[in-house]
Amino acid sequence: MCYTSVYYIVGDNLRRKKLKLKKRYAYIFKFLIFIVLICLTLVCFNIHQINELRKLGYSIQASKNILLHSKKDYVVSIGENKLLNAAFESNDYKEDNLDSYSKIKYYNQENIIANINTLIDKGYSNSDISIILAHGTDYDVTQFAKKEKVKYLAEFFSIDYAKLSLYDRYLEYSRETGEDERTTVLFVNLGMDKKAYADYNIVEKFSVDMLVNKYNMLPEDFEPDDLIVIDSNYRNDDVQMGAKVAVEAFKEMYRAAAKDGLGLVINSGYRSYETQEDLCNTYRSLYGDNYVNRYVSLPGFSEHQTGLAFDIGSTSSDIFAESKEYEWMLDNSYKYGFILRFSKSNENITGFRSEPWHYRYVGKEIATYIYEHNISFEEYYAMFLDN
Ligand code: ZN
Repeated sequence: MCYTSVYYIVGDNLRRKKLKLKKRYAYIFKFLIFIVLICLTLVCFNIHQINELRKLGYSIQASKNILLHSKKDYVVSIGENKLLNAAFESNDYKEDNLDSYSKIKYYNQENIIANINTLIDKGYSNSDISIILAHGTDYDVTQFAKKEKVKYLAEFFSIDYAKLSLYDRYLEYSRETGEDERTTVLFVNLGMDKKAYADYNIVEKFSVDMLVNKYNMLPEDFEPDDLIVIDSNYRNDDVQMGAKVAVEAFKEMYRAAAKDGLGLVINSGYRSYETQEDLCNTYRSLYGDNYVNRYVSLPGFSEHQTGLAFDIGSTSSDIFAESKEYEWMLDNSYKYGFILRFSKSNENITGFRSEPWHYRYVGKEIATYIYEHNISFEEYYAMFLDN
């Protein structure tokens, strides 16, 4: 064998080896491309599915979890649903409760999913849970969920302004008094299951819709905004003051009454804490505690300290309840933002005997509602103002 042929044989082997390697690399390369293509397809498909869920109103995080739990078809069949979105965003998500999540009404509460899980475990129905969530804050619901399952849920909470946090007091009050649910919720919300003048809120901020009564007290140094002296045309011979907003409304009412040939007069306007204290002491020494309790507010608990309440008289009669002005006021005062505060029909709510002369400025909108629905200011407050 000559060197030339040896050289060819070695060269041929090398070429074959190189060719083999080339083929192997090409094969690996193709395989990798194939894998990458599959991955890209999967990613695209995933993005497509997330986009589909996003179009239905689900967040990116919720959409990812929906796919992770293989619940896309279910979610698509339900469509947009805020609670379902919250459930898939939450670490508290429980597959067993999926159907409930889609049926319960959503509220913006931090622990809503954990609370729903607890309430389901306690045996509440989906509609019960919707009722519970509607009547409290996140904190209220969390506390309520810790209790044993309660009876009479729908009974109390069919009333819009019933509060979850007061459930135990509703139960106790209705057991003690035998009152119906509506009265129970109203009275407990107003604090009337507690002792008058003993258990009260402090009201510090002046507003035309502020509530001051035996359960809502003004601080000793409280003064109304824009306290002004009432012009002598509109009052009796004593110097009277009032909150400007109420005084201006009274003037408008006064002029309207005058057009009808009637004469209104303010017999008592703003009274400071000290003045009210003196008044109570005088009445107490003359008539005793019972009288004061039924007719006179204790200092701090009188609407007169707000500057929004006026005791109104007539220029035609010393007894206001027998005057034409009294009749006119009953029919017209709401048009100027005033309400008869202590009527015969709401004695059980206000805790005061009827006072035909005591009017309170609350603004035209509230006064009109109260007039049209024939309710007390306390009821209005419980329904619309007590947050
Ligand atoms: Zn009064």
